[in-house]
Amino acid sequence: KKPLTIDEEAYVQGIRNGSRLHLAKAITFIESTVSDQQQIGQSLLKRLLPFTGNSIRIGITGVPGAGKSTFIEAFGKMLGDEGFKVAVLAIDPSSSITGGSILGDKTRMEELARHPNAFIRPSPAAGTLGGVHKKSRETLLLCEAGGYDVILVETVGVGQSETIVRGMVDFFLLLALTGAGDELQGMKKGIMELADALVVNKADGTNEKLAKKTVAEYKQILHFLAPATPNWTTPALAVSSLYKTGLDTVWKTVQTFQHDMQANHVWQNRRKEQTVSWFKTMIVDRLYEDFFSSIDKKETMANLEQMVRQEKVTVSQAVEELFSSNSKE
Ligand code: GDP
Repeated sequence: KKPLTIDEEAYVQGIRNGSRLHLAKAITFIESTVSDQQQIGQSLLKRLLPFTGNSIRIGITGVPGAGKSTFIEAFGKMLGDEGFKVAVLAIDPSSSITGGSILGDKTRMEELARHPNAFIRPSPAAGTLGGVHKKSRETLLLCEAGGYDVILVETVGVGQSETIVRGMVDFFLLLALTGAGDELQGMKKGIMELADALVVNKADGTNEKLAKKTVAEYKQILHFLAPATPNWTTPALAVSSLYKTGLDTVWKTVQTFQHDMQANHVWQNRRKEQTVSWFKTMIVDRLYEDFFSSIDKKETMANLEQMVRQEKVTVSQAVEELFSSNSKE
């Protein structure tokens, strides 16, 4: 079979000149599970790497129904109208577990999708968490090479996805709801400690007063928590994504954060650390993949798993056995 080739130079120029079509296709190469397509994706990424790194990367999380897509649509349009190029990516951990998706199935952000300054890419389809991580990071870099000024990475608050997104963005925003008491109790402190801003959504109509009260309560709690970013005081703010109020304050907060954290180098250092930890994650992923790439290993693993379950061997014995078994490559 003839190897797949493309006009790489045309892609590189296309992406750098803002062609959404080239960008979307390059991301498809990155996300592909077919080896020669993956190689093209990597080759493009390598050529585009010198043009990455110039965006503000913002992570956005919140429970389903918090208003993430409404917020991103309104926030993205506001920035787009101001002349910023905005890319929206999603990381949907459910797709790697169930094959279905929480974020991707409904038609979302239709208005933003039509905005001339916006680019929206849904969550990559099923794969391991590590795989989704890798693809999303590389997609983010391609968007930066495409001149996007602001990259919004959306995730639903399930399992490890928040930590993964925190690990690839400069600023992490937690979208919360009113109804303090219960929600404050239920909200995991751990997630609040990842956030650079806590934004209470749906501060409109009869809910507005309660939202302000919730903000005050969050402020008190935040006071006792370690900030997600050194030398930054995590603020609590109220917005209405529906009526588009408070969104400019969120943007000002992000800009102040960028200015201050670049001045004290926390921004630059975080990015370096993120790249190093990405490198380490990928090594572990690669080792895991390589180790189980032979059928033999998979079989041995399955047999040992059965024996562990039946308590015929200890876990340590089983691990020892797995590593000493000689697989025929
Ligand atoms: P997601 O699951 O976090 O993406 O939440 P959605 O953006 O789909 O919003 C869930 C529901 O809340 C929808 O019915 C929205 O119209 C509504 N909603 C979102 N933002 C606001 C807001 O600021 N005010 C009000 N009143 N409703 C909102």
